[in-house]
Amino acid sequence: MNLGFDIDGVISDFVAYFATIARKHYGLTLDESDIYCHDLDYVLGISRQERDRLVRETLLGDLQPIEGAKETLERLNSHGHKIIILTARFGDLNSVTRDWLQKKGIPYSLLIQSNQGEKHLAEVDLDLVVEDDLEDALGWSKKVKTVLVYDHPWNQSFNVKGLIKRVYSWNDIFEEIQQLKAT
Ligand SMILES: [Mg+2]
Repeated sequence: MNLGFDIDGVISDFVAYFATIARKHYGLTLDESDIYCHDLDYVLGISRQERDRLVRETLLGDLQPIEGAKETLERLNSHGHKIIILTARFGDLNSVTRDWLQKKGIPYSLLIQSNQGEKHLAEVDLDLVVEDDLEDALGWSKKVKTVLVYDHPWNQSFNVKGLIKRVYSWNDIFEEIQQLKAT
């Protein structure tokens, strides 16, 4: 199957590193539960330009993978699935991103960079996608059968149409892929 994965908030623990940057600049102790929406400029009360500087500084840092990400992706890769990385990181961070994926031992066959909210416009056929941003997850739901949202405080939703399915760990992601394969 063709499996799509977002990086930040799904494969990488972006927020843990972002918190160290927020502490450095503002003396603020930021917990994941404080990040109630995906727009960090709103969370911190700063301009978009300032937010982009902090995000860039974070992405240039040594982000750690979320528990189970590397092992599960290796397992899926060895099962013959095609792993496609879908990110809304800044376009000029392509080589930084590739270096990070390699350094952390994340297997993938394709890396696609898009603007936030426009990921689903990429010309790629996916059986399943994992996102932490609701805007992109709902975009994907127009064309991908199974859209998994990695649970975080910034992506809560009543999900009244059942367009997404919530997962809480990489074990959950693996189970969902096994189930989809069986159907
Ligand atoms: Mg993300």
